[in-house]
Amino acid sequence: VKIVQPSKNAAGDKLLGGLLAEGFDEASCASRYQSYSYRKDRHRKPSPHLIAKLRSYEELHNRCGPNTEPYKNAVKLLRSDHKDVDSSDCKYVVWISYSGLGNRILSIAATFLYALLTDRVLLVDEGKDMKDLFCEPFPSNSWLLPLDFPLTKQFDSFNQGNSRCYGKMLKDKAVNYSTNSVPSYVYLHVAHDYDAEDKLFFCDDDQSLLSKVPWLVMRTDNYFVPSLFLITAFEQELEKMFPEKATVFHYLGQYLFHPTNAVWGLITRYHQTYLAHADESLGVQVRVFDPRPGPFKHVMDQIRSCTLNQNLLPRVDVKASGFTSSKKNPKSTAILVTSLKLDYSDDLRSMYWEHPTSNGEVVGVYQPSHEEFQQTEKRMHNRKAWAEMYLLSLTDNLVTSAWSTFGYVAQGLGGMKPWILVKTENDTVPDPPCRLAMSMEPCFHAPPLYDCKEKRGTDTGAQVPHVKHCEDVSWGVKVI
Ligand code: GDP
Repeated sequence: VKIVQPSKNAAGDKLLGGLLAEGFDEASCASRYQSYSYRKDRHRKPSPHLIAKLRSYEELHNRCGPNTEPYKNAVKLLRSDHKDVDSSDCKYVVWISYSGLGNRILSIAATFLYALLTDRVLLVDEGKDMKDLFCEPFPSNSWLLPLDFPLTKQFDSFNQGNSRCYGKMLKDKAVNYSTNSVPSYVYLHVAHDYDAEDKLFFCDDDQSLLSKVPWLVMRTDNYFVPSLFLITAFEQELEKMFPEKATVFHYLGQYLFHPTNAVWGLITRYHQTYLAHADESLGVQVRVFDPRPGPFKHVMDQIRSCTLNQNLLPRVDVKASGFTSSKKNPKSTAILVTSLKLDYSDDLRSMYWEHPTSNGEVVGVYQPSHEEFQQTEKRMHNRKAWAEMYLLSLTDNLVTSAWSTFGYVAQGLGGMKPWILVKTENDTVPDPPCRLAMSMEPCFHAPPLYDCKEKRGTDTGAQVPHVKHCEDVSWGVKVI
């Protein structure tokens, strides 16, 4: 039985090496202090600087968060159009609920890092199911944007045409912060469809302008962390927080996203029933973006050739189908497949039932759900999606699908470099079928390709050694 027992320094482990703060009510969010006993110890520790930064952020959030005096004062500013610059005030970045669950988790983490780097308070628009999926991450005060926040009703009108959109303001030449008067809020469009002006958000000069604005309201479905690494003003701080650079989502994700008890029940019941007893586990995340109904034979063949070639799974002896004398306690592997369709795991399951493995090992294949298609704003659907991302993160090894943020969340939380199934073309199995990721960091799918200093286009995947083009999205960039 492979249930990991709490080790001697249980207190330290429970708090993930100091990443998590003490003092939460454990029963109201069991996952926060229990996750360590399900996760493989990959011997990583957050840096003392990151820990200090998080503790001081918690103080800031407590002092400036919802319903505090500074918060009420800052909200008053929104009623007037401009304010006099007063650096002692609390400043905020508001994340607008937008896009699929994987995208949301990644973009909240990126926005939180931005908040840490700019000494802002992060407030999250709860949308339809935030409360149902995630516990509160900060002690003492909520991260949810209060329901009576005066701009919420306008969120739908926050787009690139809005006169408060930073990119639009630049186009209209409406940005002039040279005086002491700055707007009380600016809308930042950092979504996949943003344009050249919106992208100036990632330039030092623009950051210095924006630093004066009390409220930044952001719509993003992107993990824009790699581009924060290219902003000179943030360089030193990032270096200190993340001496091992490619751990940003690993730590911030584990710090922020704790499944609620409803989701933790889904996770732990499944884990204890199907995964905990195996000697080894492999997660296989199958996300097919092909609009045709499927299932696809080439995807099945790709999964088989990836997992067998990389020795992630034992081969079967296809000629044998009868009884073969087996070892008394054969090594067992549990495969956790997540997919909207059942067919891919069915195929694997049949393979290991119909034929013995060449080395006598036994393989169980499990898939928690098959929801058939992506749905939004359905409680149980989103709970299951979150539980499955989390379950994947608890496996020993991981195979993910190219382009999918669902897989990025799993690899990052689990601290694993996954094998990425290369995107297929012309219904054939790519050669090689999968590639080992350079790092466990998610890919930023829509980075700016602009050199702020030179004011011209550039390859942002070639500027510094630690930000490179992604394995799966050639124009994307990731931290390695
Ligand atoms: P991405 O589209 O793969 O980048 O990931 P997102 O999480 O942003 O959006 C995909 C959505 O489709 C998920 O949030 C789920 O609602 C659904 N979905 C996709 N794959 C799965 C799966 O394997 N299991 C479950 N339960 N839902 C899935």
